[in-house]
Amino acid sequence: MSARFKHPQYGEPGWDTWLAARLDIERLPVEWPACDERCSGVPHDPDLRLILADLEIERTHRRGGEWWDYARKTEIERDPEWESVRAATTQTPAEARLPRLTRLRRLAATDREWSVILNPGTPVFEDLYEILDGPLAGGMLVAVEFGAIDIGAGLAGKLIVQDHPPARDPLATEHRLAEAAPALDRGLPLEKDAAD
Ligand SMILES: [Zn+2]
Repeated sequence: MSARFKHPQYGEPGWDTWLAARLDIERLPVEWPACDERCSGVPHDPDLRLILADLEIERTHRRGGEWWDYARKTEIERDPEWESVRAATTQTPAEARLPRLTRLRRLAATDREWSVILNPGTPVFEDLYEILDGPLAGGMLVAVEFGAIDIGAGLAGKLIVQDHPPARDPLATEHRLAEAAPALDRGLPLEKDAAD
């Protein structure tokens, strides 16, 4: 089992507070930052995404055939190699870091039937991406889209946004992290408690 999923479980003290904080992260839009004058004449591919802040990634679990039944919109059936686990911190080693401004191509949405073995009883939806830049180019990454998964992983999913000029502005990173800060402040201490 991974080091993740340290949040309070349903019915435990702190669950309601944690869930509200997690949902606040959930509501941060991937279409943000919005288009502005810098977008004029620039083609926008809805499946091209950009990483707003460094992500910490780890080798992912092997997917079975059933998982691919949920990987819609793609004919690729090669196991993803990487999973996004949280926004990178100063402790994140270089080899586990997918840097800001790395481009991704969204290949498919996948959903919960497979992931139930990781997080019983709670739906988890993921997106599957191809990594387009850097030493890991060509590799495939899964990032959580929705579900009762740790707040850090949820935020990592919300650091993957539409690739267009406003997203390349360093202010976009700052603003996104500031948007997430209140929910992180409320929810992360509960995850630490649950891990003790
Ligand atoms: Zn735009």
